[in-house]
Amino acid sequence: MSDVRKEIIKAIKELVSQNILFAKGGNLSAKCGKDQLVVTASGKDYSVVKEEDLIVVDYQGKVIEGERKPSSELPLHLAIYKKRPDVNAIIHTHAIWPYVLSVTHQSLPPISDEFTILLGGEIKVSKYEFPGTDKLAESVVESLGMNNASLIANHGCVTVGRTVEEALENMVVLANFSKVYVLAKIFGTPHVLPDWAIEKEKEMYKKWHGFV
Ligand SMILES: [Zn+2]
Repeated sequence: MSDVRKEIIKAIKELVSQNILFAKGGNLSAKCGKDQLVVTASGKDYSVVKEEDLIVVDYQGKVIEGERKPSSELPLHLAIYKKRPDVNAIIHTHAIWPYVLSVTHQSLPPISDEFTILLGGEIKVSKYEFPGTDKLAESVVESLGMNNASLIANHGCVTVGRTVEEALENMVVLANFSKVYVLAKIFGTPHVLPDWAIEKEKEMYKKWHGFV
């Protein structure tokens, strides 16, 4: 279990260094042991977070270990784990560029081979729901589908992975390609990949994840 804690702290440091995670916004979780999750605490400043600040909860959200309150977005994490048994780690952030897409309710289309293969295709925006609610969780589970990322209407984004490292890589890729897309829209007309390439890459994604 301490390995999972270490991986989460390492991911937080990386995300803070890239300004993807800042102040107290966002949260991370990962499966550990049997039917348990390590999750970040509510309202903790990520620039000073330590292993002791992480909370262990069960799949009902009950605190097993830790002094602080778990993240208020725990229902979102629990709902994703319930729907997607392949997912072992989840990262939610208020990263600026995906946030721009989330407030304008614009999905991120497949504009790059790399991100289509890693994230699964077009990254959709969930329907707006109030933070911390089961309705928000439901809405994000739907927009995520079998992809590795979703935009959350007016509230940033989420990525998932089979490991903390994978969820982290997916978050960095989402943040960077959201930036590319927003800048491309300002500079000119972003061209989406041809359909045949998208289909090929979706197949690669599915095979790589064991979905087919
Ligand atoms: Zn948030």
